[in-house]
Amino acid sequence: MQNNLKEKINSILPQTQCGKCEFSGCEPYAEAISEGKADINQCPPGGKSGILKIAKLLKVDYKPLNERYGIEKPKEIAIIEEDKCIGCTLCILACPVDAILGASKNMHTVITEECTGCELCIAPCPVDCIKMIPLDFEDDEITKRKKSDLARKRYEFKKQRMIRDKNKAKANRVTSEEKKQAIANAMARIKKG
Ligand code: SF4
Ligand code: SF4
Ligand code: SF4
Repeated sequence: MQNNLKEKINSILPQTQCGKCEFSGCEPYAEAISEGKADINQCPPGGKSGILKIAKLLKVDYKPLNERYGIEKPKEIAIIEEDKCIGCTLCILACPVDAILGASKNMHTVITEECTGCELCIAPCPVDCIKMIPLDFEDDEITKRKKSDLARKRYEFKKQRMIRDKNKAKANRVTSEEKKQAIANAMARIKKG
């Protein structure tokens, strides 16, 4: 039941995955609301219309966005000044929805259609070559929903990939420890004659 409510709240949230609500993404914030551990007015990208929808779902009073978490503003997307980019890949690591293309030591570029405007790539860039620019058009409600669904899928995919990579690294570490042990055992055997 609780899970069902979390899902319903998460499907209202914009899936920008920016962390401005002070949770690590939209889903943990949805979970906290469903458990009564967070207020309904902490998501700046969702803004007034998002708060209204959550209030309606939970049958509670609307309350304005708590500006401690940020202000509502028109959607922006990131662009990279490619001539300044040193190809360090830090922005790729930071992007929650894999909207940046590039490889080590090569210039990077943002896939405009997939950028949620979360701003998480700005701070890690060591040469300040990522800027946010406002979108010069506004999506209709259906397009917004489609983009949110896509962002959610890309975010979940990235989360799974990070877990897989971590497990792989762990597995590799075990293998190298095992190798060291095997060498030590062999050396001991040789010494023993
Ligand atoms: S869009 Fe950002 S602030 Fe809103 S719920 Fe998702 S992570 Fe939190
Ligand atoms: S490119 Fe930057 S602003 Fe756009 S989604 Fe990725 S991290 Fe967020
Ligand atoms: S963080 Fe900045 S310099 Fe590094 S790859 Fe991304 S855009 Fe280029």
